[in-house]
Amino acid sequence: MAYATTNPFTNEQIKVFPNATDAEIDTALDSAHNAFLSWRTTSFAERAKVMQKAADILRANIDEYSKLLTLEMGKVFGEAKAETELSAAIFEYYAKNAEKLLAPEDLPVANKDEGRAKIIHQPLGILLAVEPWNFPFYQVARIIAPQLSAGNTVVLKHASNVPQCAAAMDKLMIEAGLPKGAFQNLYPSHDQVSRIIADHRVRGLALTGSEGAGARLAAEAGQALKKCTMELGGADAFIVLEDADLEKTVKWAVFGRHWNAGQVCVSSKRMIVVDAVYDQFMNQYREGVAKLKMGDPMDPATTLAPLSSQKAADDLKKQVEGAVAAGAKAEEIPLEMPNAGAFFRPVILTDVKDGNPAMREEFFGPVSMIFRVKDEAEAIRMANDSPYGLGGSVFTKDEARGVRVAEQIETGMVFVNHPTMVKADLPFGGVLRSGFGRELIGLGIKEFVNHKLVDVVDIDAPF
Ligand code: NAP
Repeated sequence: MAYATTNPFTNEQIKVFPNATDAEIDTALDSAHNAFLSWRTTSFAERAKVMQKAADILRANIDEYSKLLTLEMGKVFGEAKAETELSAAIFEYYAKNAEKLLAPEDLPVANKDEGRAKIIHQPLGILLAVEPWNFPFYQVARIIAPQLSAGNTVVLKHASNVPQCAAAMDKLMIEAGLPKGAFQNLYPSHDQVSRIIADHRVRGLALTGSEGAGARLAAEAGQALKKCTMELGGADAFIVLEDADLEKTVKWAVFGRHWNAGQVCVSSKRMIVVDAVYDQFMNQYREGVAKLKMGDPMDPATTLAPLSSQKAADDLKKQVEGAVAAGAKAEEIPLEMPNAGAFFRPVILTDVKDGNPAMREEFFGPVSMIFRVKDEAEAIRMANDSPYGLGGSVFTKDEARGVRVAEQIETGMVFVNHPTMVKADLPFGGVLRSGFGRELIGLGIKEFVNHKLVDVVDIDAPF
């Protein structure tokens, strides 16, 4: 595994970055620990200034930052700009709210003999963030904005195909005024990641990525008895009920499955449509997908980007072949496709039955699985027939019905009449094999703090 920038639009390798040496890792951890010793007592107001500055720098240089996203992982430039802005919004959110979110909480004790009890929230130390390539800035912001605001320090191991995005985040925080060592990007090997997790000064692990990486690194964190959060894959259901506004629903289905070239953990991967509107939905969905345009991700006319790498495209093709071999029907939508680049024509999979491995897998690209179900009850059953539990959505004109259905879906997030909402002020995370823990808002900032009880008790109080 080498850290390298390869442009997915041309498949041309642009720059290779050497792995960190063991000595560099040791120096980075020394410096992250030293930074923690003063950053943990730096006031919220001072930390907020750094977070706000990071937001301001991102916004002032949005084109420059966004071009890096498009260069390294291929997303269309408009989506890259939206990601940069969202990352800025997350820094700003914690600049404004961290102090309130971590304010000491007086405990309402039953009896005054129990003392004057309060909970204070104190940072733990160095955290390791292991992050994926699909949202190279947003994923990092989701961890460093809350955790630096809480007084922790962070070392980053980003995905090996986005080394320049990783370095850009490092530079951003230095420019924003963060003390040296408090946030550092490293290019470690997988073995060195294990060493970092085991280091006694590292107090937690936040990983976003695949189920496989999550299972492996969560086990290492467990072995070292360290807290971790796992933000893993998903196969979100997109339920269409008979009373949905079909035209708008189809528009969201096409978007929900194809933004970021379908490489989104909360992408609408399983469309579950009730029989009464299935044929209509299918026809309109097929037409909607056929209107997508593949091409240069920097061209504003492009709506379907290449995948992040040729390997990702090849792997996805094999996965579709596996689903077909197990009985599914695959319909490729014949979009015009550039000759070079990691492009992948959208595929609609139907007839995916119990026992087909596709039922339990995540397709990370523009592959839509569509299921016909009898009614609402069967739609809910089907939505919950998944090893994953990340997001999901339900489309109906009846809001109360939508909420009722949402309450019965076993995932961390459900949206009524929208594929997903990814915002600075909404929490993110899942259950089951989609992982555990939450990022963003108060839930995220409280994942890696010591919720310490301080109780002032009358010396004569009975035991
Ligand atoms: P991945 O292969 O699991 O990689 C994620 C990160 O883990 C990368 O930095 C990767 O580094 C590292 N990694 C993988 N195996 C490792 C090991 N054995 N030791 C140390 N580090 C290791 O996932 P991906 O392909 O980048 O991202 C796609 C996955 O992330 C999908 O499953 C998607 O659903 C999920 N995701 C989840 C969320 C969420 O919030 N729930 C958000 C976005 C994405 P290398 O590149 O060096 O291998």
